[in-house]
Amino acid sequence: MDKTYSQTHDECPACGKTERFFESILKELKGKGLIEPNITQFSFQIMQGVLLDEAKIKALSFQDDLPGFFLIWDFCADCGCQYAVRLERKVAKKKPSLLIPGLNQNVLMNRAQRRRSERENLGNN
Ligand SMILES: [Zn+2]
Repeated sequence: MDKTYSQTHDECPACGKTERFFESILKELKGKGLIEPNITQFSFQIMQGVLLDEAKIKALSFQDDLPGFFLIWDFCADCGCQYAVRLERKVAKKKPSLLIPGLNQNVLMNRAQRRRSERENLGNN
């Protein structure tokens, strides 16, 4: 797997249907005007970070690159299969003033926080 790995799945890999569980709820809430039209997924559907615990990260120098990831997930509304809508390999760069999320830590952020975090924590490489 190279450092530019990225995949987008527009349909369920198991049954080929395109309706997704959380996306359907999001559309319904948008239709009622309860969620901004530019929101494309719930924050809990987004995970990103590096797969290393905090102690190891603290021991690294600021120049070290770490393999990181970015994931948007959902369930197929037809068969219930959970799959990656978007999956990307990222390169995380440790910087003096930030916290890098560790293993098993879900990052729950709104869109603005996520964008800001991506700019600060993860650079494409
Ligand atoms: Zn399916």
